[in-house]
Amino acid sequence: MRIDLHTHSSASDGTDSPAALIANAVSAGLDVVALTDHDTTAGWRAASTAARAAGITLVPGAEISCRLGDGEDAIPIHMLAYLFDPAEPEFAAERELLRDDRTRRAEAIVERCRELGAPITWDRVRAIAAGAVVGRPHIASALVEAGMVASVSEAFTPDWLADGGRAFVDKYALEPRRALALVRAAGGVPVMAHPAAGSRGRIVTEDYIAELAGAGLSGVEVDHVDHDEESRERLRALAAELGIIATGSSDYHGTRKPEITLGINTTSREAYEAIVARASGTSVVSGVATRSSVTP
Ligand code: AMP
Ligand code: ZN
Ligand code: FE
Ligand code: FE
Repeated sequence: MRIDLHTHSSASDGTDSPAALIANAVSAGLDVVALTDHDTTAGWRAASTAARAAGITLVPGAEISCRLGDGEDAIPIHMLAYLFDPAEPEFAAERELLRDDRTRRAEAIVERCRELGAPITWDRVRAIAAGAVVGRPHIASALVEAGMVASVSEAFTPDWLADGGRAFVDKYALEPRRALALVRAAGGVPVMAHPAAGSRGRIVTEDYIAELAGAGLSGVEVDHVDHDEESRERLRALAAELGIIATGSSDYHGTRKPEITLGINTTSREAYEAIVARASGTSVVSGVATRSSVTP
């Protein structure tokens, strides 16, 4: 079984529509794919319809913006949340706050870019995002279009959009323990995304992951494009020691990150089944099962 538990659609900063993402997942030979857009479930319905028709299994999810600590030393943390009830009011309200503040913050980043001489506009960024939850990659695309950088990844340098960079503005983010509590109260399963990807040289410590494992964290993403072999082995050993789930995923974003293809990293069947077994918020959606349903 080929299982990819971390992808983005045009509901956030990916470029495939949810239906196109499902079609591409089938083409990539995946049996199971999770849709984990940033801070939104807006793609669930279209992805579910497409998955039922295509006979692939969809794991509805999201990637929730969190932050550990404050100010200069703060570490951004992304929490993958699987199979939660999208209607659970407290978590739904927090996702809305996260999305609203992303809009304020993107406008502020565009303003900084303009002060730095980039001829981009909020109108253009909004058009690129086209109704999606806005993120720095949309601004990066505008910077590419304006000829300020050669590629989206080149926009993520200290000169422009990187954490702490010249045009960087922080966004509202959840305290990680609060995110865990919200996800679990909504029947979901929280897995920390790319713990060793780092930001400004800082990565979350093993002690902190252990602490969160005691506070409801169900797993960690081990195999991820931003993790070197040493980090993967370290995280795999840590997950085993803590008795939590180890996953692997692509973090696919469509053509915005063309080097990242669906299924470049995958999750074992055992890990996937452990996630499904812990979930009570909603079911996986599959073309062959009949009892599954999702109402965003
Ligand atoms: P935001 O959620 O708006 O803070 O933007 C974070 C998103 O930007 C991540 O989820 C990635 O999709 C993307 N991103 C972050 N760092 C990089 C990078 N170095 N190169 C390309 N994309 C990045
Ligand atoms: Zn992203
Ligand atoms: Fe992420
Ligand atoms: Fe992601």
